[in-house]
Amino acid sequence: ANGLPNPLLTAGAARSLVDSVDAFLFDCDGVIWKGDQLIEGVPETLDLLRKMGKKLVFVTNNSRKSRRQYSKKFRALGLEVTEEEIFTSSFAAAMFLKLNNFPPEKKVYVVGEDGILEELRLAGFECLGGPEDGKKNILLEANFYFEHDKTAEVYIALLCSSLMAMREACGYKPLSGGHSTLLAPFTVLPVGPAWRYASLCIRENPGCLFIATNRDPTGHMTSAQEWPGAGTMVAAVSCSVQKEPIVVGKPSSFLMDFLLKSFNLETSRMCMVGDRLDTDILFGQNTGCKTLLVLSGVTTLSELQDASNTIHPDLYTNSIYDLVGLLQQ
Ligand code: PLP
Ligand code: CA
Repeated sequence: ANGLPNPLLTAGAARSLVDSVDAFLFDCDGVIWKGDQLIEGVPETLDLLRKMGKKLVFVTNNSRKSRRQYSKKFRALGLEVTEEEIFTSSFAAAMFLKLNNFPPEKKVYVVGEDGILEELRLAGFECLGGPEDGKKNILLEANFYFEHDKTAEVYIALLCSSLMAMREACGYKPLSGGHSTLLAPFTVLPVGPAWRYASLCIRENPGCLFIATNRDPTGHMTSAQEWPGAGTMVAAVSCSVQKEPIVVGKPSSFLMDFLLKSFNLETSRMCMVGDRLDTDILFGQNTGCKTLLVLSGVTTLSELQDASNTIHPDLYTNSIYDLVGLLQQ
């Protein structure tokens, strides 16, 4: 490229990029949408790449939804994407347990939302926790339920989702409406009991797996609102049990094996497009893909160019829509 550590996508670079790959792997939040809002020019860009014969795959670390729920979200935003083209960290978690022969008679304790429960159940696993925790007040009685579950001989793995998940898992309701003020200040959230339950599982059940869907520091619920992400949940439990989790989402290469089994593709002929350096770009690099950073999400140009940054994409641009303009030059 132009000799700089972070080359900007130019018309020439865009042309040689599309010529050198058969598939584009798109991260979702910050690339396709921001929270619930489609990013400008996405439908045109995806249409153009499909017309050029490129395979499109969508890889999200957000475990709040299942693949089925994501295909509904895509459709609601006017994008035709099938379940098979979507890889979520919730699906990754279910596949990880399946691949590692996690005994189906044992139960999985989920700190997370419906999407994880749905993927686990589809894969044949029984779950505890999730939003259902709030209903039985498990979180206020962590020790009681832990003893109860233990006598039922549950063997528990833990999956972590977002701070939003914790609100749902805790059955926490705002005193008055107003979504935006729901989680502020964060310190008033009754998240402690879920951490305690999860920590008990990991500490007290021999062989209990500690699985994190992802460690993203932040996530978007709407285009304007950034929230502490699953990484904050994972950090709390990890600190308490003094153990590192198994991470199944990006940047772990675990999902790539499934992707390659599903499609006839080679990683050297794929481009991973994402907005986060330590998940998307690292995932692309860990798996041998070409990498394109977009600045339409969480990473700013100054963060990319900061001397302390050690993760350098092959190319960067403002948003995927730039491909349309550049390829037409
Ligand atoms: N996890 C949660 C809870 C999120 O809200 C988000 C983004 O909104 C993510 C993870 C990151 O998702 P993605 O990998 O699509 O950027
Ligand atoms: Ca992202």
